[in-house]
Amino acid sequence: MSTRPCFEWIKPRHDRMPEECGVVGMYDAGGAPVSEALYYGLYALQHRGQESAGIALSDGRGIRYHKAMGLVTECFSEGATLKNLGNGSIGIGHVRYSTAGSSQVVNAQPLVVRYKNGTMALAHNGNLINAQHIRGILERRGVISQTALDTEVIANLIARFSGDDIVGAIRRTMEYIRGAYSLVIMTETQLIGVRDPGGVRPLALGRLGDAYMIASESCAFDAVGADFIRDLRPGEIVVVDRSGLRSIQTETPPQSHLCIFEFVYFARTDSVIDGVSVYQARENAGRLLARSAGVEADMVSGVPDSAITAAIGYSKESGIPYGEGLAKNRYVGRTFIQPQQSRRETGVRIKLNALRKNVQGKRVVLVDDSIVRGTTSRKIVEMLRCAGAREVHMLISSPPVVYPCFFGIDTPDREQLIGARNSVEQIRAKIGADTLCYLPIEDLLKTVDGAVCGFCQGCFNSEYPLDPDAFREFCPPLE
Ligand code: AMP
Repeated sequence: MSTRPCFEWIKPRHDRMPEECGVVGMYDAGGAPVSEALYYGLYALQHRGQESAGIALSDGRGIRYHKAMGLVTECFSEGATLKNLGNGSIGIGHVRYSTAGSSQVVNAQPLVVRYKNGTMALAHNGNLINAQHIRGILERRGVISQTALDTEVIANLIARFSGDDIVGAIRRTMEYIRGAYSLVIMTETQLIGVRDPGGVRPLALGRLGDAYMIASESCAFDAVGADFIRDLRPGEIVVVDRSGLRSIQTETPPQSHLCIFEFVYFARTDSVIDGVSVYQARENAGRLLARSAGVEADMVSGVPDSAITAAIGYSKESGIPYGEGLAKNRYVGRTFIQPQQSRRETGVRIKLNALRKNVQGKRVVLVDDSIVRGTTSRKIVEMLRCAGAREVHMLISSPPVVYPCFFGIDTPDREQLIGARNSVEQIRAKIGADTLCYLPIEDLLKTVDGAVCGFCQGCFNSEYPLDPDAFREFCPPLE
């Protein structure tokens, strides 16, 4: 457990905010310890969550865990922390990234709970629409909550439905919960992966020697030398135990809904999700943007890191040379999440700086993957102008973000989304660019050509896989 002093206070429920996360799990049939591979797997998923990290391990008899606030390397800073977890050959891990309201170690994962059949640990990526409603029902029946996590609602339901077989309990739980969930669950003797019926968040299966691995993104397999086997199917439950691996397919809607924002911004460029290379999708986006925007310029630059690939695509398609317009402090994480606007603005300045030598006197096309509040764009346009850029053309490799996400990407309320309240021309004026062009949604869909799934584009067009209003209070009778 964390050696840091623990000062927590439990926030009122309305303070709970969406969160973004990465999950990993591993089961070694040969009994080899999995802690190190889990650690490096989590490290590879750090971009999915930078606020807290945790690992839970089972040695077949009991579960030990450690979770703390901070980056993976901070949470497990002394090798001793990892060693203290023991030599368990089953394990799961989690990285999390939330907003200020719920940024407390009590909400770090994996969530480890005792229930009638023993102990289970859960790590969850995604957001449920009806978790608060179910939690309310459970609490009115005397169930106690320790955290603000949707994951705790899932754990409560699994425990409640548990007979002898945890898979039956998970299946029943899936009848109650609505929303996005990619889960890794561990008992003392099993590793289980679950992907929600819409397949909203990614979850993949890999293999390393005698071990099976489950992770949010394939880059976690590459980091430890594991082979990617396949993505979990929407609605699939995969169980790994002494008898090997088995798959249970639950009912799914006719169309799946992988979050397209994973390709725009969230996932790592070297991951492949549901048959689509994130790198390729971003390069395609840049190329299509060049075709639709057609701006004259002397250089193309990308906002590091997430827009570099799209900028390279833009440069290849337009023939305008690629150059670095901005330097990034690589020790700064994703600044977007800072709770106060003033801190967000300072965050941009600390993270990015214009490269005067490269941009001076030039007409610069600056590619970014998205505009959410507009803070980043406004600051970097200003920086480039101060550094002597003659023109700054801001080109965005996705459509305007107009609607919030209810499924696990932390977009703010509509009032804070610059795209919800302003026309493209008004946004251009606000960020001070000479040109502002977005990638049309039809083109965004072309970037993921060849995918074996459908896509949620809710943040762009409000077509969500589930109507949040219709399902917010969904809960079949609980006996
Ligand atoms: P903003 O400054 O609010 O307009 O945010 C846009 C910037 O944040 C872009 O540079 C994106 O790369 C990045 N971004 C977009 N969505 C997210 C997100 N959900 N979490 C963190 N950063 C994001």
